[in-house]
Amino acid sequence: MLDFLGNLERTHYCGELRAAHAGQQVVLMGWVNRRRDHGSLIFLDLRDRTGISQIVLDKDLIPEGHAKGEQIRPEYVVAAVGKVRLRSADAINPKMPTGEVEIEATDLRVLNDTRLAPFSPSEEAIQNEEVRLKYRYVDLRRPEMQRNFRLRHEITLAIRDNLSKQGFLEIETPILTKSTPEGARDFLVPSRVHPGEFYALPQSPQIFKQILMISGFDKYFQIARCFRDEDLRADRQLEFTQVDIEMSFPHQETVFAVAEEFLAAGFAAAGVTLPTPFPRISYDESIRQYGSDKPDLRLPSLVDVRPAFTDAALATLQIDPALPVVALRIPKVGELSRKEREDNHPLFELGKGAKFIDDFKRLSKGFSEAASKVRELVSADEADFVIIVAGDPANPIKASDTKIPGRLSEREINVYSAAGNFRTELAKKYADRHGAFKVTDMVVDLAALRGGGKLLDDAKVKWGADVINTWLKSEKELVDGSAAFRPIWITDFPMFEYDASLGKWMPAHHPFTAPHEADMANLLTDPASVRANCYDLAMNGLELGSGSIRIHRKDVQQQIFKSLGISDEEAHARFGFFLDALEYGTPPHGGIALGLDRIVMLLAGAPSLREVIAFPKTAKAVDMMAEAPTTVTDEQLKELHIRVALKS
Ligand code: ASP
Repeated sequence: MLDFLGNLERTHYCGELRAAHAGQQVVLMGWVNRRRDHGSLIFLDLRDRTGISQIVLDKDLIPEGHAKGEQIRPEYVVAAVGKVRLRSADAINPKMPTGEVEIEATDLRVLNDTRLAPFSPSEEAIQNEEVRLKYRYVDLRRPEMQRNFRLRHEITLAIRDNLSKQGFLEIETPILTKSTPEGARDFLVPSRVHPGEFYALPQSPQIFKQILMISGFDKYFQIARCFRDEDLRADRQLEFTQVDIEMSFPHQETVFAVAEEFLAAGFAAAGVTLPTPFPRISYDESIRQYGSDKPDLRLPSLVDVRPAFTDAALATLQIDPALPVVALRIPKVGELSRKEREDNHPLFELGKGAKFIDDFKRLSKGFSEAASKVRELVSADEADFVIIVAGDPANPIKASDTKIPGRLSEREINVYSAAGNFRTELAKKYADRHGAFKVTDMVVDLAALRGGGKLLDDAKVKWGADVINTWLKSEKELVDGSAAFRPIWITDFPMFEYDASLGKWMPAHHPFTAPHEADMANLLTDPASVRANCYDLAMNGLELGSGSIRIHRKDVQQQIFKSLGISDEEAHARFGFFLDALEYGTPPHGGIALGLDRIVMLLAGAPSLREVIAFPKTAKAVDMMAEAPTTVTDEQLKELHIRVALKS
């Protein structure tokens, strides 16, 4: 019963038709979203990537088309020819942009049928994500997914365009290459031509982009795919895309200005105004205020409440007086029962040498002055939930106490981060009560309405804006997006981290990161005190990316390798080509890379990266649709000179 397309040509997209089209002859093509059989009239909702139009099959008008209509099932592929007409007043559907019109079909061609998929794209996403990913082609038909990828396209386009305007050249770097030290495991590709030798997939274009600076390109960018063999979490994938930048002769501020500008352009493409310049905070200050190096500024920061306690009080409460005593505040949570509080306890990370006090009533009984001083210090309203986090002398952890003047010790960092993690977990749990994340959701919803601007009439956009504006009660907040998306630069990271299990200082970043010029003298004598000339960009509790000013002198690079315990031979075996290149007139240079998937995820209001990557891997690193990874034939292995040793 299938028809040929013949010479039929589409005239419009399904989502485009409006009252103004009434009377026009149109040809639409798409998938049947829904079918309603009213006897002599059959209604088809025809869907393509822009939206839905209603097709009417009238038995009197096209008996043959009507007969086909009786056989049609959802997701059949259909072409409808007919005239646009206004619906009668009682049939207007104000929820659909095309709801004022319908197409009176004069011809209907069934271009393809379909097997029954385990779910329908006309409905909400099903819970079972593995099934969604297996039938990804059906899942991607859902309007929400279509919107996510349209958004991704618009954002990417805007970023590209902006970087080009800022004078950056897009240059591709190899996928089959040599290991890049970004701290993850490499994916290896065996060479057929060179038995026993392997290429590595790039963890980032880092070394190549630096070489492009040595080559005089001055400003490079790439929407680059990176591959890192690491365990997957909600915000990680084995392969991901980053906006990768490198430039010659920059200062940190130069890189910030470039990144702020292209990011703002990307956000603008999604309908969100991102005010620049972004605020800055040092790593130590970020840890002190948020217990994290990717702080979420939409919530109140941690507050030092040590002054609320006398030494005697701390001793009775069994709190380590040498470590920070901080309070976190989650607004508007209301009073929690003991049971509710206990349910929260697993969210607190033990093992960081910290403890918490969340029973204020009890605290008030023994230490009424301290308790009210704490609430005063954190400016708590009555309904705000306040928790004190402090060092636990009963459970000290193995960590360095080394105290570099002006820097935090590892033990201090641990207490702050225990508080910081508790803060984010509780904030997620009580999101409905404090409402701080809702602003973001609302702005994202409006951006979605705007992002689909070509598909929705102005009235709809206005309707969306009205709803959101009423909710926010302040148009300004909405328009500049400043309450919804809170970017922040984190600077002055330590250069090295001490790895107790390995017993050595490890680079906190890739080993091409330059130290602060002022700290160079301490490289070998006092590594803990050395600050790196690098920076992260965080937004709403997510790390968007990082970058640094690089080492451009071979003597400094060698010193860094030495301080990391990398021998000359090892350095040469791993990045000899790069060390050589450094000797051929390397300009000072630096750059940054921001995760494109994460940016899109934020602007799509998506709960995971998988919602904005067309064919992602599951948490178990599997491509459900393509069924990768798989075994390969013996023939292939032989060609690659590989034997698989599997323990049975
Ligand atoms: N290559 C770094 C990364 O992928 C970014 C940079 O330093 O530019 O994280």
